[in-house]
Amino acid sequence: MNSLSTIEAIKKYEWPYHRTKVCEITLHYKCNIKCVFCYSSPELDEWKNKNPMLISNVFKDLISSYQNGSKIVQFIGGEPTIYPELDKAILFAKKKGYKVIQIVTNGQKMADPVFAERIKKAGLNSASFSIHHIIPQKHDETVRTPGAFKKTIKGIENAIKNEIYVTANIAITALNYKHIPDMVKFLYDNYGIETYSLIAAHFIGIADKNSHKLKVSYSDIVPYVLKTLSFLESKNILPVSPILSNFVPCVAPGCEHIISDWQIPFNDDDLYLPEKSYKNSMYLHITNTLRMKTDKCKKCIYFNLCAGFEKSYYKIFGGKEFEPIKTISKPVAISPFYKH
Ligand code: SF4
Repeated sequence: MNSLSTIEAIKKYEWPYHRTKVCEITLHYKCNIKCVFCYSSPELDEWKNKNPMLISNVFKDLISSYQNGSKIVQFIGGEPTIYPELDKAILFAKKKGYKVIQIVTNGQKMADPVFAERIKKAGLNSASFSIHHIIPQKHDETVRTPGAFKKTIKGIENAIKNEIYVTANIAITALNYKHIPDMVKFLYDNYGIETYSLIAAHFIGIADKNSHKLKVSYSDIVPYVLKTLSFLESKNILPVSPILSNFVPCVAPGCEHIISDWQIPFNDDDLYLPEKSYKNSMYLHITNTLRMKTDKCKKCIYFNLCAGFEKSYYKIFGGKEFEPIKTISKPVAISPFYKH
């Protein structure tokens, strides 16, 4: 059973050939599982009582971001599939003219074939599934929900049956980093998934509280990331977007073109939260609040371009891995289809 390939999805849904601006809408903070690395977990006081976004505001934001140049909308959360008016939001995005209409999901609700078919009919054409281990029991432990792995896989299968383009998100922690190459191989061999987002864990929220069991350094992660990239290269895979997130060039030289978020953004995306909006400044907001550079960075060829690494990582591991880059490394031979 295979997902649409990137080329098939581009033709079928008339997606733009170059990546365009993204409208990211956080519908609410509710979730139906409890990932140990969540940054916006309702278990935490600061997220517990936050209101969901009103559907009227979702419509307003969809209009505003479309006028601002967005052709891609991502509905996120919390878990977007348990937002009661998701169908309406998707349908509105479709009518407005968004080409890529995506959810970022843990896949639990997608295991219901009726639900999967319904949101496909509303206009969903891309789903990004979060999956964090290849061993079912380990995935279930990571998301603290028995049976979650089985449902996520069922959700992937239901998406494929409905010709929804499927991508996968993997949050990298000490619990899974050695298994990343096997996970990607499993997802490609069994479901034809071409686009991956390998996200180095953000040590904030619940992940900060659990950092004693989740923490792993870039030096430990990168060999497994490179092995994964070699596998993707060997298959001539064409991902739809950059593969690595929360990395900087000095820890993964040659990966500059496949790290989604290392540069200070000059063409930024829109971020809409229930309580606040960041129009044209999603990444800038993240950069300004979460990241830092050290004095050593001043000697790096990327100093003026690089947004730096996360302060929360520095708190745990210090800055010894962030050595200034003197020359540009040969790029790894894999490119996302959409270019920034
Ligand atoms: S500026 Fe600093 S964090 Fe960025 S790539 Fe260079 S050494 Fe690394």
